[in-house]
Amino acid sequence: MLTMKFGGTSVGDVPRLQEVVTIVKQFMNDQPVVVASAMGGLTNVLIETANKAVDRKSGEVNNAVAAIRERHLQIANAMIQDYPRRAALIKDHQDLIDELANFYHGVSLLRELSPRSLDAIAAFGELLSCRQIAAIFEENGIPSQFIDARTIIRTDDTFGEASIDFVFSNRKINETITPLVKKGIVPVVTGFIASTADGITTTVGRSGSDYTGSIVGAAVNSKEIWIWTDVDGVMTADPRNVKGAKVLTEISYREAAEMSYFGAKVIHPKTMVPAIEKKIPIRIKNTFNPTHAGTLISAKPNHNGTSAKTVTSIDSLAIIAIEGNGMIGVPGVSSRIFTALARARVNVMMISQASSEHNVCIIVPRKDCENGLKTLREEFKIDVAQKNIDDITAKEPVSIVAVVGEGMIGTKGIAGKTFDAVAKADVNIIAIAQGSSELNISFVVEQSEAKKAVQAVHDAFHL
Ligand code: ASP
Ligand code: MG
Repeated sequence: MLTMKFGGTSVGDVPRLQEVVTIVKQFMNDQPVVVASAMGGLTNVLIETANKAVDRKSGEVNNAVAAIRERHLQIANAMIQDYPRRAALIKDHQDLIDELANFYHGVSLLRELSPRSLDAIAAFGELLSCRQIAAIFEENGIPSQFIDARTIIRTDDTFGEASIDFVFSNRKINETITPLVKKGIVPVVTGFIASTADGITTTVGRSGSDYTGSIVGAAVNSKEIWIWTDVDGVMTADPRNVKGAKVLTEISYREAAEMSYFGAKVIHPKTMVPAIEKKIPIRIKNTFNPTHAGTLISAKPNHNGTSAKTVTSIDSLAIIAIEGNGMIGVPGVSSRIFTALARARVNVMMISQASSEHNVCIIVPRKDCENGLKTLREEFKIDVAQKNIDDITAKEPVSIVAVVGEGMIGTKGIAGKTFDAVAKADVNIIAIAQGSSELNISFVVEQSEAKKAVQAVHDAFHL
């Protein structure tokens, strides 16, 4: 089997959907299993509209629902000529969209939108899209079956970012998908959505259809998992910001996870998890340029001797610094910092502490900065009064620049080369961190200088 996940742009309009048909036809001998996203941008619309429903902006909600209806009916009318098939799809679309409108109505009556309700609403994008794709396949002579992932993927009830029950899901996915494929049918599985043991709809996190693709691909022992998207592959840097950015032909699972975490938005970081266990290679492919080989992600990539592979940056962050002579040698400071921040649900993205222990800095998303600062000032109130800690301060906006590559492990001079390049570009480094995995070196700069730093590092390593 060959599992192919198609992202929002790849299923977002008539020409792309036609390309999907062409691609799937071409790989029929490999027994394709398809996983797909909502039509491009639709999940955002569903969520924004839910927020409008809470505010009882009924006119805007009605307009949004009408636009969603129109968008899907247009696809049905343009791509399905067979009358009974088109009528059936239109009926499915109408029923789903009526149900969605009811959900919005409920939200506006209650003026309440819980994460649980939001998942139920966000799920409509994939439900509409995948029913449509299955019908389009049938129309084009590809025997196909729509599969609602809520019937095969079980999660806990962490709405918005649910955790998978792999034991249950792997068995159920296999039982459902494998017999279909053996009969020559192409299953079209909804990405992103799943359900609890009680049948309540959940989602696996924004952009999570990649993850679904990998969960399904691993469960059926697919020979490869292909993530069809709108770029040629994982690049050495963001081409919008860096001159000379190139597509990487091969990277490792760990590099891919590290890169996607650090802002190479090509693939969801969790996608690697199910694939690693079964050593199933993942390939990034471009529906706009299907003959391009893309990027192959595997356990043992061909490294071509390059040490650093990508340089990326994440913007909109804040750095919180805790400083003071009284902190030196006092145990428990770090523990109190992280416990307090965890309690306040502040996501810590990077930590740096000099061995003098005089200063600890924590990088958090900018939106969490105020809350984090307040929490820490509260936690260390007494220590500040006793002058063990001078002050707790924040600086924003800052960016993390991350240099990633497995070849950096054990290679001397990588850090030197990185910081030398940044210094020559006249960019000031505020903080530095390198994990002992040596897979990445991260440093913090003022956001306005991030682009310059990224370009300098990219040039220095001839990426
Ligand atoms: N449609 C979902 C989202 O936009 C999942 C995905 O496309 O990966 O987040
Ligand atoms: Mg995506």
